[in-house]
Amino acid sequence: MSGGCEAYDQQPGVRVPEPGNGSAPVRPVPERSPLLPRNGFAVLHQAGTSSATDDYGVQFLEGPGPHSAIGILQSFIPLSEETMPAAIRFRQVVDLSQEVGPDTQMFPGYPQPAFTQWTTREVHGFISEALFMISHTGTHIDAPWHYRPEGKRVHELPVDRFITRGHVLELPGLRAKDRITPAMLRSALSRLSSPVGNGDAVLLRTGWERRRGSTPYLSANPGLSAAGAEVLVELRIGLVGVDSANLDPADAGDYPAHHVILKAGIPILENVANLAAIGSRPFHLVALPLRLRGAGGSPVRAVALVE
Ligand SMILES: [Zn+2]
Repeated sequence: MSGGCEAYDQQPGVRVPEPGNGSAPVRPVPERSPLLPRNGFAVLHQAGTSSATDDYGVQFLEGPGPHSAIGILQSFIPLSEETMPAAIRFRQVVDLSQEVGPDTQMFPGYPQPAFTQWTTREVHGFISEALFMISHTGTHIDAPWHYRPEGKRVHELPVDRFITRGHVLELPGLRAKDRITPAMLRSALSRLSSPVGNGDAVLLRTGWERRRGSTPYLSANPGLSAAGAEVLVELRIGLVGVDSANLDPADAGDYPAHHVILKAGIPILENVANLAAIGSRPFHLVALPLRLRGAGGSPVRAVALVE
């Protein structure tokens, strides 16, 4: 697949400033560390251990708990004394997101996204847009609240749920409205180079993305069976994604897979794009929803940080 896949060519030496009082020395990244990959890397700041107020009187959030996002990112990096206290390196950032605009493919009952120019440079000095769109537009997450009255809403989901190690489950040969069975999942899981751990994201590659833009993309997608959903819940995954608009098969009717997954408190990522660009390489998924109070879903910018 071509397009949508962008290399992140960060220059060595970039660092995020300490958020504290500035007295703690910041160790620079060596220009030539043997640990640095050729194509690029990024450095994330290691957060402090408690909330604090900075020189400007601004309170900043604290971390890192054992499950904090940065803690998870740290855990896969072989750190050395020569490097920053916390660092994440990756060779490529793969964009897994659909573009959002008036042409984004939407289910028939949903309106098309509309961006209305709200201010003009001529009158206000700057341009801004009012956004009108369904919370489940383009690449987006379903919060448990989307289907489950007892489920969490978007703003109640911990942000570290959306920054995690990811796995692509290859499910070749699926036809329209096929069910992804436990046997298919187990076969795909057995082919992974590393096992799925607690809290990991599992992205189901059904191949249905190739139908995007046509009617069958929405009306005939294969999808997860309820029994398959139970298998994923038992794996204690943190998130499940799919390269179609619907985790359930198009004709499943009452959304059995959605209910099994969301009842377990696991968010769903739909309309994932460009999974082919990851290949079989290990990666971390970053798919952050907006902090929308009370919402049942949110568009995300989903990326794979490929090691
Ligand atoms: Zn949705």
